[in-house]
Amino acid sequence: MESFNSTSLPHMASYADLVKLAHQNPNLSSLENLWEAYYTYWNNDVLATGIITFIAHELIYFGRCLPWIIADAMPGTFNRWRIQDHKPPPSFATQWSCTKYILAIHFIVELPLIVLFHPMMDLCGLKYTSPFPDLKTLATQLAIFFVVEDTYHYWLHRAFHWGPLYRSIHRIHHQYAAPFGLTAEYASPWETLLLGMGTIAPPLVMAHFTGNVHLVTVLAWMGLRQVQAIDCHSGYDFPWSLRRIFPFWGGADWHDDHHRYFVGNYSSSFRHWDILMGTIAGPKNGREKKRRD
Ligand SMILES: [Zn+2]
Ligand SMILES: [Zn+2]
Repeated sequence: MESFNSTSLPHMASYADLVKLAHQNPNLSSLENLWEAYYTYWNNDVLATGIITFIAHELIYFGRCLPWIIADAMPGTFNRWRIQDHKPPPSFATQWSCTKYILAIHFIVELPLIVLFHPMMDLCGLKYTSPFPDLKTLATQLAIFFVVEDTYHYWLHRAFHWGPLYRSIHRIHHQYAAPFGLTAEYASPWETLLLGMGTIAPPLVMAHFTGNVHLVTVLAWMGLRQVQAIDCHSGYDFPWSLRRIFPFWGGADWHDDHHRYFVGNYSSSFRHWDILMGTIAGPKNGREKKRRD
């Protein structure tokens, strides 16, 4: 990054400073200008990418979990939409113990991966300077990432249900047979690392072969993937849930059955792999097993 004068952004930037920076280069949009100023301010691209990615990850994770925590605290209003409404919603103590584990995973496993992302980006030719990608490129790449991750997730998750791998890697994620939003990333460090590759690797591989992937697309992808994972663990299925508009979308209705019956519904976002491979969960399909632990 070299196009901005680092002295133009004081340590405590006022709103007027930000407005000035947002119009510094007339060939760029306000957001692109601020993005450039942000990198100039840190004067260390690895640090700048790490900070924005980790903060975005934390804000999206806990921000998206909050509505589900509120719903769980108001069973009188929301229980009618709970999938496993025969069980009480998770208590505050349960949510708090899950939060502590999630924070440990975020700081110990995910933070180092996030810090390593910038060097990997450089190696694969993933872009991070302005301008941002156009909307058509962004949407096409996001769609490809969703389909590729879902395929990777289906096969690896199915493998994780093989006895030795289940006991050594995947059992922690199945601690809660009635999942709630915070349990989306409740998993062993190995599971976080291996399943996480399905989110991290596709943009890097695509960047290597096309030279046309931007960090902004990766941040959007990471955010959407987090929202998808949290929502499908929420335990709630509403009349307006996405799966009622797009029948191939899994959502909570789909993944809740995976936690409830322990066998079947291995994919992350869509339903097609389980339908094609005959691995739909539930007693009607003869796919119901007792807990292995
Ligand atoms: Zn599983
Ligand atoms: Zn799950």
